[in-house]
Amino acid sequence: MRPLRAVVFDVDGTLVDSERDGHRVAFNAAFEEAGLPDRWDVATYGTLLRIAGGERRLAFWFEASGRLPGEARELAARLHPQKTRLMRELVEAGRIAPRPGARELLAELAAHGVAVHVATTGTRAWVEPLLDTAFGPCFTTVVTGTEVPDLKPSPAVYERVLTLTGLAPHETVAVEDSANGVRAAVAAGLRCLAARNAYTADDDFSGASVDATGLDDPRLVGWVRGRLPAGPGG
Ligand SMILES: [Mg+2]
Repeated sequence: MRPLRAVVFDVDGTLVDSERDGHRVAFNAAFEEAGLPDRWDVATYGTLLRIAGGERRLAFWFEASGRLPGEARELAARLHPQKTRLMRELVEAGRIAPRPGARELLAELAAHGVAVHVATTGTRAWVEPLLDTAFGPCFTTVVTGTEVPDLKPSPAVYERVLTLTGLAPHETVAVEDSANGVRAAVAAGLRCLAARNAYTADDDFSGASVDATGLDDPRLVGWVRGRLPAGPGG
């Protein structure tokens, strides 16, 4: 078995539980700032997560709740930058915590000299401060939706990471929390470890090499440990 050289992480729902306590809260604050009556409770937001991308999610919601298509798109385009600013404020206030096992997994990879990168369709304006606040400067290459606007399940964001790092798919593994994320990684030729969360518990992870309940699940940790190179700490 060839050892791993790199792990590429998704951010939302994978490294941090950012959906329920970050994005959802920021969307609701944006509605409130704009004087709109819309609010997303935890269950409603769970169903909306099937729509990838914040602006598309807003437009879908506005149209589904009775606005005309043009008005829905205009409202979404106006609110999304406000939501991004509010998300950044939550991040900088330290309100978005790492998922259980995330820091331990990153530390173990670092101890064995395995590089860690990020492939997210989130916006750089909040992704960078979030990674800094929650994990410090441990990620070598961070590709966000700001540079690669094609949303997962498009493989584009993973392909950009492979191009920038020069890594081959067989020496790299992705970690994702959603069906769209797993499909994106697999379409880029990567193996993918799935770390389900409450919102993605029922997703179809048939393309994943490991189907785990989190980053601290022994199935996921064991898969990684079995492929670690003998690094400075090993
Ligand atoms: Mg995700």
